[in-house]
Amino acid sequence: MKTYRKELFFHVPTRRAFINITPEVEGLRASGVKEGLVLVNAMHITASVFINDDESGLHHDYEAWLEKLAPHEPVAQYRHNKGEDNADAHMKRQIMGREVVVAVTDGRLDFGTWEQIFYGEFDGRRRKRVLVKIIGE
Ligand code: ZN
Repeated sequence: MKTYRKELFFHVPTRRAFINITPEVEGLRASGVKEGLVLVNAMHITASVFINDDESGLHHDYEAWLEKLAPHEPVAQYRHNKGEDNADAHMKRQIMGREVVVAVTDGRLDFGTWEQIFYGEFDGRRRKRVLVKIIGE
């Protein structure tokens, strides 16, 4: 079995953003794996990796929905916010998920219709990492 590990780095200038990382993950065909699995996970508890449509309206809707569920302000509403202000980011990450697993078939990511991989940043303005691990033959 082959294994391949790589980290992707992000420094999002805003607090929140959704970034399509599909090209970077597809670029990891350098792993030489033709049949297997790729795991992609955020290495931070205030960021997500998820799969959905690359459609700007939907991304706006996610932002509004997440802000309704876990509003950033007022920061004093959260017990976690003692000396920091990112409790909402932890909750947003919990909803949007930590990782995705995608099948690799014939050397390609075996997606469903319109599926794309996104990095969801909920507490940006600092350097963060995403792990890509590929296993297979
Ligand atoms: Zn925190």
